[in-house]
Amino acid sequence: MQRRVILETVLEFDNHPSADQIFDAVEDRLPGVARTTVYRTLDHLARMGVITKACHPGRVARFDPRLELHHHLVCLRCNEFFDFEDDGLNELKIPDTSAFGFEVNDYRVQLRGICQTCREREKKEESK
Ligand SMILES: [Zn+2]
Ligand SMILES: [Zn+2]
Repeated sequence: MQRRVILETVLEFDNHPSADQIFDAVEDRLPGVARTTVYRTLDHLARMGVITKACHPGRVARFDPRLELHHHLVCLRCNEFFDFEDDGLNELKIPDTSAFGFEVNDYRVQLRGICQTCREREKKEESK
């Protein structure tokens, strides 16, 4: 029951919510729910492959309701994640990782940099 509410909440976000953002939204629906319950359920859903855990350069884990192959533009200033599609990236040849005993299931390319909003803000600050 709780799990379904948590999953529905994640699916309503359209842009890579952090665990904290998900918790805030779940709390509106399940008053009194424990933060650890929400976090544990998110990890569980990610392990089941219902959502994916998008890796993040900062300390905050982000969750992604989109399972199909796509990539991300990650802003190093505001930590925002944007979905990014590119045929060339979709066709990347996955290197052989068997020497590491590692089996690749999936990949996402993260292009890291500064988003438009942050660039415009910085430009304004510079011209002050
Ligand atoms: Zn930004
Ligand atoms: Zn995504």
